[in-house]
Amino acid sequence: MKRSLAAHCRIVVKVGSSLLVDDATGRLDRDWLAALTEDVAMLMGDGRRVIIVSSGAIALGRRALELGRDVLKLEEAQAAAAAGQIALAGAWAESLAAHGLHAAQILLTLGDTEERRRYLNARATFATLMKMRAVPVINENDTVATTEIRYGDNDRLAARVAAMVGADCLVLLSDVDGLYSAPPASDPSATHIDFVPAVTPAIEAMAGSAGSDLSRGGMKTKVEAARIATSAGAAMVIASGHVKNPLKAIDAGARATWFAPQATPASARKAWIASHLEPRGSISVDPGAASALRAGKSLLPAGVTGVDGRFARGDAVFIRAEDGAEIGRGLVAFDVEDATRIVGKRSGEIEAILGYRGRAEMIHRDDMVLRDA
Ligand code: GLU
Repeated sequence: MKRSLAAHCRIVVKVGSSLLVDDATGRLDRDWLAALTEDVAMLMGDGRRVIIVSSGAIALGRRALELGRDVLKLEEAQAAAAAGQIALAGAWAESLAAHGLHAAQILLTLGDTEERRRYLNARATFATLMKMRAVPVINENDTVATTEIRYGDNDRLAARVAAMVGADCLVLLSDVDGLYSAPPASDPSATHIDFVPAVTPAIEAMAGSAGSDLSRGGMKTKVEAARIATSAGAAMVIASGHVKNPLKAIDAGARATWFAPQATPASARKAWIASHLEPRGSISVDPGAASALRAGKSLLPAGVTGVDGRFARGDAVFIRAEDGAEIGRGLVAFDVEDATRIVGKRSGEIEAILGYRGRAEMIHRDDMVLRDA
């Protein structure tokens, strides 16, 4: 693994509240944001893709709604997020536009990355935005997320997003410059760790639980984020955002902690499909489709000869040859009822049959793992 952002091609950057919003005044630091988006534009200019996960809605909304400095009740935090998110997204849009980049806001709740049918939708939208060179700007949808269904911190949200989009690098910018052997505020013997080859229980034990006032994430959620991101095939780096041009600073050798990826994004996703999901049904394909799949193509409804089982859109299913042999597994893009209605049909006929414009593929090649022939 190269310890440089320039060596990666799909980078998720998480920005903590305390960097964007001044603790004392509750104001947005536009100069800092301008310098950060300059870094983003520089990375994008070389063909890389950057996705932003930005905190700061609650901190901004708290000031706008004059909620004072006490701990907010859940409904107050949700109201603050509703008011602050507009300003936050506006600031990103404006700052990115200064570099000719389009911002695209996506507000996620836990279900969007945990439930497969919603996961597939969100993933397809991300892919489309990235194709168009827009910069997704993500936050948790705090206003509708109640205690039971929230991530609660953008560190883990960013790690889930990194896994969902197949990112090869996740950057956590906050007020700390990395992981220490013990919490540095309380333990003077704490030493900085610049490289973590794998997130072991010993590494987890080093993470204290402290966080600053504005952000929820302490080191604990950052190490959890590292576990999620690295096992999904992304490298992760924790670096301080308290410098102008913090991304440039990382590549110039600023102090940081790098975590090594444990797989590649593609192999992590394929392993997930191949072994972690219980298939809910099967889809049989004709010999022509079987060889198209082997050649790296997606499975189109035209090549399907039969559908069996009880599956919903996004569930894992077996892909079988005409003799019943398993060819592979994949995440199916239709519920069983709709899949049955489009067996053998050309992609152009699907909308008329189903009454809506579904996906062109029954199973997209990115959502498929084939067995060795
Ligand atoms: N979603 C929260 C906000 O925008 C921040 C959560 C966090 O700081 O991790 O205010």
